[in-house]
Amino acid sequence: VETIEQALMTVEVGKVDAAIMHAAAAIHIQRKHALKNIKYVATYDEKSSNESMAVRKDLPILKSILDKAITSISAKEQAVINDRWRASLEVPVDYSTMIQLVVVFALFSTMLIYMILITKNKNKIIFEKSHALERNVADLVKLRASLEEQVQDRTESLTKSEEKYRHLIENLKEEYFFYKKDKYGKYIYVSPSLINILGHSVEEFIQNSDRYIPNTAVNMKAFSFLKKISPSKNVKKFELEIYNANSKLHVFSILETSKFDEQECLVYTEGIAQDITHLKKTEAELHWLSHYDDLTQLSNRRMFLSHLDYHIEKAKYNYENIAVLYLDLNRFKHINDSLGHGAGDKILQEVSTRIKKVIRSSDLAARIGGDEFAVVLPSSSELAAKKAAIKLSKSLQKPFIVNNSSYILGVSIGIAIYPDNGETTHALIQQADAAMYVAKRQKNQIAFCSVEQKEKSLRSMQIEQDLKKLLLDKNFEPSFPLYACFQPKINLSDDKISGCELLIRWNHTQFGSIPPIEFIVIAEETGLINKLTLWVFELACRQIENWNNSHLNFEAIAINISGDDLISDKFCAKVTALLNKFDVPTSKIQLEITETSLVDSPNMAKENLIRLHEMGFKIALDDFGTGYSSLSYLRNFPVDYIKIDRSFIMDMASNSDDFEVVKAIIAIAHTLKKKVIAEGVETKEQAELLTDLGCDEVQGYYYAKPLVSSEFEELVVKASLI
Ligand code: C2E
Ligand code: CA
Ligand code: CA
Repeated sequence: VETIEQALMTVEVGKVDAAIMHAAAAIHIQRKHALKNIKYVATYDEKSSNESMAVRKDLPILKSILDKAITSISAKEQAVINDRWRASLEVPVDYSTMIQLVVVFALFSTMLIYMILITKNKNKIIFEKSHALERNVADLVKLRASLEEQVQDRTESLTKSEEKYRHLIENLKEEYFFYKKDKYGKYIYVSPSLINILGHSVEEFIQNSDRYIPNTAVNMKAFSFLKKISPSKNVKKFELEIYNANSKLHVFSILETSKFDEQECLVYTEGIAQDITHLKKTEAELHWLSHYDDLTQLSNRRMFLSHLDYHIEKAKYNYENIAVLYLDLNRFKHINDSLGHGAGDKILQEVSTRIKKVIRSSDLAARIGGDEFAVVLPSSSELAAKKAAIKLSKSLQKPFIVNNSSYILGVSIGIAIYPDNGETTHALIQQADAAMYVAKRQKNQIAFCSVEQKEKSLRSMQIEQDLKKLLLDKNFEPSFPLYACFQPKINLSDDKISGCELLIRWNHTQFGSIPPIEFIVIAEETGLINKLTLWVFELACRQIENWNNSHLNFEAIAINISGDDLISDKFCAKVTALLNKFDVPTSKIQLEITETSLVDSPNMAKENLIRLHEMGFKIALDDFGTGYSSLSYLRNFPVDYIKIDRSFIMDMASNSDDFEVVKAIIAIAHTLKKKVIAEGVETKEQAELLTDLGCDEVQGYYYAKPLVSSEFEELVVKASLI
């Protein structure tokens, strides 16, 4: 036959009994043609390329290299290759041969028994046979000698091929070089590939190796590592930095092994050096990417965490404090949304530049995400942290210039201190973050952390969100979560109900009843108060219309107005628009404003108040006595009523000072032709004293608590019947 394929086909159809050929090729062909009648009798040494590989005549070395490679394939890799490329080499069980063997064995045994029986008579023959045996043993010895010879040959050729192999690697001249050092560590051989990598000639390098291998940190580590070398541990892997001809440092990964004599003295050292400079650079770039923020060049969250981790460990041993500052830019979202991301990015970069300027080199600043930044101040007291926070806050308070316009952002900073506020990275960041939320709600915008504060701030946020939603609903039913109560005011001259004060209530689905002070402060802080006031205004108008329609007799409903309402230039216009929707005379509405709400922006407030007064609203100065109690307000502002604060009424019966204050306020008010309302009247005694002092009206639990509208109606009807 001419081909392996033909040979196999011939076996398959039974024309011949067997064929001898290369196993892999045979298996391939067998699979290809799905030959079923082939079985394997034997395989020969497959770990040699002798019968299976062709190499170029001019590169005979390839054969030994490939042989070496084949031998180096691990059992595991071999299994994978077999799986992929070869059929199972299980030799099918050859029963016919086995039967033949058994038969032969049986015959042989019978013959043996027969022979034993006749042996005694045939000693001669046995003698001869023993001679033959001896000859066989001699043959065996010969065979062994020849085998040893062969092994030696093989080893020699292997060593040769190893040398050739080394040459081949040396040809990988851009990356590797080999060297040999004497027992003093002096280079005595360096492979010529060195010049391709470092630009030094071999001689030059051997002469000046001390100069080219400087005492860098990496090299110092390598030197001290090499000192520990011993016969038991003589293969070493380490990194070494070497200057190239242009005085640039290259990093090498070195694999070195040392030869020792019988006295365990170092004879020489050999090594292979791989240039990993490029690898190191990529590694550094990767490190940068995974540890730094691209936009601001600050550390990123990951770097921040590991840095904080490190300092916590250090602080543990040194009993030191660490401060963690969490920064969130105010109004950044607004600028980002209105000016675009480009402008937002510029601001973030400017922010990080300012932060870097303020902090010390031992501190670490990071961009945690979006417009949130964090700073670690190692070994820092609470006071030092506060100082740093103030500096940061001041620096970030300054305007940012974007597209020739200036923008003021400001920042909220939360501070957590190790170990007081937390002992782990996670806890500290969480606490600083929570404190930051508290800071957002405070005027000075810097806050230290506490658990209560955190809960409070979460509740505030929830309240803000929910209030926003409720105010969108124009639902004024008493069943709505936000509803009004009405507390009667009594005219002391005739003990009749003159009107009421509208007091808002909130029955929150999650928190239950929320005190109005709490959500009104939140509404004021978050700019929701104008909406809330107008909502209350509308509720009051509807109520007045209702009561007018049902002929309920009362003078006026008082509603509470916030200082923030009065500094809004649109407030009067909005009130006017609202009034147009209802048939309500302004004289039926009293506006209660607090003295303190006039302090911040007196001119604007005054203008608005004058307008409102001109529109026909009656104005009452609420909580009088708790603020400046300045008579100038009474003279300069259009005030019709003064409401004496509850705190004076409360103790006026027992405390003569309070009594005198109440007495004086009433006298002054009357001199200025203002009426006086006392609030928080709880006892008969208080009511009688106030009557004696000539107080005009009273309001308090002694008469009635704030009532829902139906209760108030009932009360008025009942009173009018008396
Ligand atoms: P305020 O205007 O001084 O309202 C009087 C507060 O004193 C009310 O508390 C009322 O329930 C309470 N009070 C009345 N009589 C007595 C009494 O005899 N004893 C005691 N201990 N308390 C009495 P409330 O309803 O909790 O309101 C607290 C504050 O919330 C109000 O103080 C007012 O400043 C604000 N507020 C309530 N409703 C509104 C509103 O619709 N708009 C605005 N802007 N503020 C409101
Ligand atoms: Ca009030
Ligand atoms: Ca009051």
